[in-house]
Amino acid sequence: MFRTIPEDPEVWMEWTWADFAPYVEELRSARLDAGNVEPWLAGWSRLEETLDEVYNRLYVTSSADTADPEVEARYNAFLDEIFPQAMQASQALKQKLLESGLEPAGLEMPLRKLRAEVDLYREANLPLLTEEQKLNTEFDKILGAQTVEWEGRELTIPQMRPILQDLDRTRRERAWRLGAERQLADREAINAVWQKELALRMQLAENAGRPDYRQYRWQQLLRFDYTPDDCERFHQAIQTVVVPAASRIYARRQQRLGVDSLRPWDLEVDPFQRPPLIAFQDVSALKQKISAIFRQVDPHFGGYFDEMDRQGLLDLENRKNKRPGAYCAYYARTRVPFIFQNAVGIHYDVNTLLHEGGHAFHDFEKSHLPYFPQMAVPAEFAEVASMSMELLSAPYLEAQKGGFYTPEEAARAQVEHLETIVLFWPYMAVVDAFQHWVYTHPEQAGDPSACDAQWGALWERFMPGVDWSGLEDAMATGWHRKHHIHTYPFYYVEYGLAQSGACQVWRNSLDDQSEAVAAYRHALALGGTVPLPQMYETAGARLAFDAGTLQPSVERIEQTIDQLEAGAGGVRAANPPLTE
Ligand SMILES: [Zn+2]
Repeated sequence: MFRTIPEDPEVWMEWTWADFAPYVEELRSARLDAGNVEPWLAGWSRLEETLDEVYNRLYVTSSADTADPEVEARYNAFLDEIFPQAMQASQALKQKLLESGLEPAGLEMPLRKLRAEVDLYREANLPLLTEEQKLNTEFDKILGAQTVEWEGRELTIPQMRPILQDLDRTRRERAWRLGAERQLADREAINAVWQKELALRMQLAENAGRPDYRQYRWQQLLRFDYTPDDCERFHQAIQTVVVPAASRIYARRQQRLGVDSLRPWDLEVDPFQRPPLIAFQDVSALKQKISAIFRQVDPHFGGYFDEMDRQGLLDLENRKNKRPGAYCAYYARTRVPFIFQNAVGIHYDVNTLLHEGGHAFHDFEKSHLPYFPQMAVPAEFAEVASMSMELLSAPYLEAQKGGFYTPEEAARAQVEHLETIVLFWPYMAVVDAFQHWVYTHPEQAGDPSACDAQWGALWERFMPGVDWSGLEDAMATGWHRKHHIHTYPFYYVEYGLAQSGACQVWRNSLDDQSEAVAAYRHALALGGTVPLPQMYETAGARLAFDAGTLQPSVERIEQTIDQLEAGAGGVRAANPPLTE
């Protein structure tokens, strides 16, 4: 009834908008009713999937070689010539579906999202949203230009980070202070951008008829299943349950390092002075071992991963001219994922691939769903998929089980991972609670010194254990350095919630791995067709904000750390503490 775009990427990778336009026109001009809505949705889905895949393929190609001018030109041509038209077409077709009043089975959730978007839409906000993009760029530019002179070389702040792992404490302190001073030199500039960001966001909310930006943003982020009060309960639960556990980790670190007080430059060095873990020599070893690990979590996952390798859907090794970072992209029309990363042989690379693997398996599991709008999964659950995979894989990191390490090394990797989880929650609570305060006290938050004071108070509430005395300015301006606060407001609690979900999946797996993994797979297969709490429930977890849910996870983490440290040949006694 509606023409379908062919399946073969070779057909449409070279298309211009003129080739897509007839498909759009046919869908746009059709009379939509209960009799033809399903084929209409199928036609629309194939169109959206194809456009999405073209974009993702071009993005992947340009990530793989940032120096190829031809690749860059094709990517930019898509953004200039096809993308705006595609957005417009997409908007028109969404509108058409909404106006039809039809609610086909399986589309309840996507339609709820569409309605919320339309409800928030204001013509008057379009120039403001563009302005916000520009402010984001301004903020990025200030941070991106921060460099320091270190031992005769000019280094960016991220490039200074490995020095914080140096065993020489004086050297670490020098590096840390240099970075902090450089960041403080931009204090006024960032405060000025902040005041513009805040004013603009208040205007966005006002134009949309919302009492404050928090309510505006809640709807924009499509947070249907929890409220600001839930987030505040979550902060409280973190304070009650996680902060004491984090303090125990800090105290242990302080004692192991043999220092009088733990300073901000003592947090990344190995407390036993061990050299960094070497995980693999080349990418073929990485692939082979990761495949063995996934296979033991579930044979399907090993199969998916091997299939990706066979189809050339893994670009793992670091090379010159490759974009930094890692991601998993979905080729929606072909229905396969692609993993991109920059592996060099360290444990971080192993963990990154386990994480991206979780996202990729999500793509495989949901690919049976018929319609494109059903594919979108909220971050609060998408990250459960990836974070769970890191935890589910942990028992197989040892070489004897197909992985990378001696038992001691595997224990060390797991302990570091589990400690990171505990230490993340309180920081996340600071970032989130700060924004709740800002957008409900916009008059006060317009004064940067009030923001510093608020951040400082939250830091004391959630982050005891590290001694910041004499470094008060660096501490109080922590909100300057948190990218999300400036460029993705309120987008952060997602990670805290997902980590809690992942810990619940992990706890289930410690009792019964195959049952836990089966539930996890069922949840992934739902895609975006059910509300968030149901995704969690299907995975054997709860979307919850209370201490009662966090407590058993934190306990299990602490127990596991103790067992790993006791069992792995007494890591505790392996090295004498550092003396100052
Ligand atoms: Zn992720």
